[in-house]
Amino acid sequence: MYKQVINKLYQELKNIKYNGEIASYIPELATVSASKFGIYLADISNNSFGIGDFEEKFSIQSISKVLSFCLAYKNLGEAIWTRLGVEPSGSAFNSLIQIETNNGIPRNPFINSGALVICDILISILKNPREEFLEFCREASNNNKIYYSEKIAKSEKSVGYRNIALCNLIKSFGNIKNDPNDILDFYFLVCSIELSCKDLAETFLFLANYGKNPFNNNIILTKSQAKRVNAIMQTCGLYDESGEFTYKVGLPGKSGVGGGIIAINPNNYCIAVWSPVLNKKGNSCKAMDFLEKFTTETDLSIF
Ligand code: GLN
Repeated sequence: MYKQVINKLYQELKNIKYNGEIASYIPELATVSASKFGIYLADISNNSFGIGDFEEKFSIQSISKVLSFCLAYKNLGEAIWTRLGVEPSGSAFNSLIQIETNNGIPRNPFINSGALVICDILISILKNPREEFLEFCREASNNNKIYYSEKIAKSEKSVGYRNIALCNLIKSFGNIKNDPNDILDFYFLVCSIELSCKDLAETFLFLANYGKNPFNNNIILTKSQAKRVNAIMQTCGLYDESGEFTYKVGLPGKSGVGGGIIAINPNNYCIAVWSPVLNKKGNSCKAMDFLEKFTTETDLSIF
């Protein structure tokens, strides 16, 4: 059934041009073709289906915030919540104002401020944060061909003024413990990971499988932790469009300015959609539209 619906919607949406723009604020992202469109669904019983540019790697950007959070949460457990919260931000993903009013405590781990604090935590607790984070992604996906893009990280760093400001602002409140330059370098690297829709759906499948890696049954997160990560994705995964995404799609999701969105149907499947043209909130127009139609036509969401 998935295959038929995905196929039909792909044909329907393929040639539609949405009113939006590619994320050109990171120069290297502006080089991607606007017409890219790929979809991949993987379920926990080993069924899968992909169409379009589903095997082409793209910059996952903020989608990586879920993975870096999972690694920190796995290590720290509930103690992590002294450093950040779980409330939707209702603000842009790179907002500075909220950090000022919230005394340096980010609203959640899936906006830039929260992800910077998570990078700070990982730098404090891991011996080799870069290698260990990559290893975590590779293990989750059962795929060794996952890499950072040094080129994209460098490109973002060259214009990363807002993130630099954010990191320093949080540091001024004492909620960044390490050197802001080290945090920023690691943050840009984490954002630069490149995955295809297929890689992405496979990497996130443990969140559809109660925290267990479906490929080898290793426990990545406890059942309760996986539930909570899905809950934060539901309420905070699309920044100040999380309510809209919940209303239209009805699944936990996470977006990135590379144009990807991952959505999870717990105990069932993961679906990754990629189309680089973004709306004003920084979310992929076509991926949002596709997922809304997909959960409507399959009549399967968590609501
Ligand atoms: N690296 C990007 C930034 O910090 C990630 C933002 C996103 O994908 N929303 O601006």
